Amino acid sequence: MDRPTFAAAINCMDGRTIIPATEWIKQHLKVDCVDMITEPGMIGAFAAQDERLLHSVKRMLQISLRAHATRTVVLVAHFDCVGNPVPKEKQLQQLSRSIQILRSWEFPEIERIIGIWLNEQFQAELIEDHRLRETQDS
Ligand SMILES: [Zn+2]
Repeated sequence: MDRPTFAAAINCMDGRTIIPATEWIKQHLKVDCVDMITEPGMIGAFAAQDERLLHSVKRMLQISLRAHATRTVVLVAHFDCVGNPVPKEKQLQQLSRSIQILRSWEFPEIERIIGIWLNEQFQAELIEDHRLRETQDS
């Protein structure tokens, strides 16, 4: 049997986001599983470069990249975030900033970074899609 394929998500801990984010990622990236790295108001704290959080996310991401051969990382922002109660426009700026921070870590394993927004119906909308290098199947 083939080994399952993985992507990683950097997401809020909000329980409304977990299944929609996982389903979207599995469908769009054609992976079997999603390693979910969560924190309340993740994108706000990430963009603000909270040292403790960045250290912790980096450590979890390394495990996903190395043990599960993750090649795509998806950052998730969402409607009605209690941990990051700012308007959508501000959250999308934070999402963009978070993607820049993630890129600056220069993990050689990461081939693609995606930003999504979960709207009022908790449906995923693609916001940013960065291909850092050619993927093997493209
Ligand atoms: Zn949230």
